[in-house]
Amino acid sequence: MRVAVIGAGIIGVTTAFELAVDGHEVTVFERRAAVAEETSFANAGLIAPGYVTPWAAPGMPAKVARYLLSKHAPVRIGFPLSRADIAWMRQWYRACELPAYAANRSRMQALAFYSRTRMRDISEHFQLQYDRSIGYLVLLRGEKDRKLAEPGLQLLRDSGVPFKEIGQEEARAIEPAINADTQFAGAIHLPEDEVGNCRQFALLLKNEAQAIGVNFEFNTAVEPLNSVSPCLLQVWLLGADAPTQRQFDAVLVCSGMDSATLLRPLGLEIPLAAVYGYSISAAIREPLNAPRSAVMDERFKVAITRLGQRVRVSGSAEIGGLPEKKRPSSLQTLYKVLHDWFPGAAALAGTRSGVQEWKGARPMLPDGPPLLGASGVPGVWINLGHGSSGWALSCGSARVVADLMSGRTPEIDVQGLGVERLQG
Ligand SMILES: Cc1cc2nc3c(=O)[nH]c(=O)nc-3n(C[C@H](O)[C@H](O)[C@H](O)COP(=O)(O)OP(=O)(O)OC[C@H]3O[C@@H](n4cnc5c(N)ncnc54)[C@H](O)[C@@H]3O)c2cc1C
Repeated sequence: MRVAVIGAGIIGVTTAFELAVDGHEVTVFERRAAVAEETSFANAGLIAPGYVTPWAAPGMPAKVARYLLSKHAPVRIGFPLSRADIAWMRQWYRACELPAYAANRSRMQALAFYSRTRMRDISEHFQLQYDRSIGYLVLLRGEKDRKLAEPGLQLLRDSGVPFKEIGQEEARAIEPAINADTQFAGAIHLPEDEVGNCRQFALLLKNEAQAIGVNFEFNTAVEPLNSVSPCLLQVWLLGADAPTQRQFDAVLVCSGMDSATLLRPLGLEIPLAAVYGYSISAAIREPLNAPRSAVMDERFKVAITRLGQRVRVSGSAEIGGLPEKKRPSSLQTLYKVLHDWFPGAAALAGTRSGVQEWKGARPMLPDGPPLLGASGVPGVWINLGHGSSGWALSCGSARVVADLMSGRTPEIDVQGLGVERLQG
């Protein structure tokens, strides 16, 4: 089949690769000049399948309400809030009920474990050299945080995820650079989880995809699909006076936050909300003061990760607001948490000139799992809505979608991951 893939974030790149592996003739259209320039650009990089869970969970509405009043809140509401944001929040609230949560959680985790295996196979096979470290430590500041983490530990046990509850000393042995002055209640150590640089992986896999025939067309935006002939694309090359028409046998929409706009003319209403988050990345100033792998401050929901010669600090979840407007207090929380755990790790250098401060939009569906497979409109396929776990879910989602498009049964159960969920 001649397949058009719209979007070259981590989801578009991995899926284009898998489609080419299956022998399809693939063209990727990307409006930016390179792959992974939007949400896949500077995420935290965590791959911790046991912690891939829906945001819509029992007790979350009350937690969100409490956070609204706190200074370093992990969740915030930004303004302006659109009508779509409000409608999304209503759907999210309904999905917080236990039966919906339990079903969505098990779907996401099955996909996350499958995805990690697929990613490791690909990385090994092609010897992809990207910044990556093994091991994940969830840091618990106080007894209250330890108690709050307990129900999550039972879920990890139920899922068979290897982990260990450890005290301060053992945590310091795993991450020796943890601030000697910071006292804490302990940690949860997940030795099989990892952190990796999503953008680097996307760049490397793009090269492998090109080597097996994928055609990438950058600086090229695709217009919303046409309901009469959705596989006839209107394609704008940057600076052109008029679009060109390109005919394909199939179209795959994996355009992050813009997926909903592209699909709307087909009568598909995809409830995607941008849940904004931030990261700061800086060169390591003193390796002995930097983390070895990934840690998560469970109270502030801030991840501090080692990516080669850089430290990345990432967190915050903000509904509403504007993509280009960075909230100073959210960034301050990241600096504070870095300073609490690893002071002196990063070259912040007073002026912050060498520090990359980034805001990204998690493309989030209200109930959690992404939407994968047929759109219901002949010829149009989707791979979208991966929310806060798009990197962790990317390789598995890509394989599932490629299998479905090739008429094969995927290796994991895909019930509840298709577009029919929207009607349910
Ligand atoms: C602060 C933060 C931390 C995160 N941490 C993690 C983490 O630790 N682990 C994890 O697994 N996930 C994490 N995520 C989530 C992850 O980054 C996203 O789920 C993932 O990047 C989404 O990938 P995507 O390819 O769907 O979207 P994108 O990367 O946004 O790609 C979509 C692409 O489509 C292109 N496009 C859109 N419309 C058009 C059009 N009309 N024509 C042509 N091109 C178009 C865009 O330019 C873009 O390049 C985090 C996100 C944030 C914001």
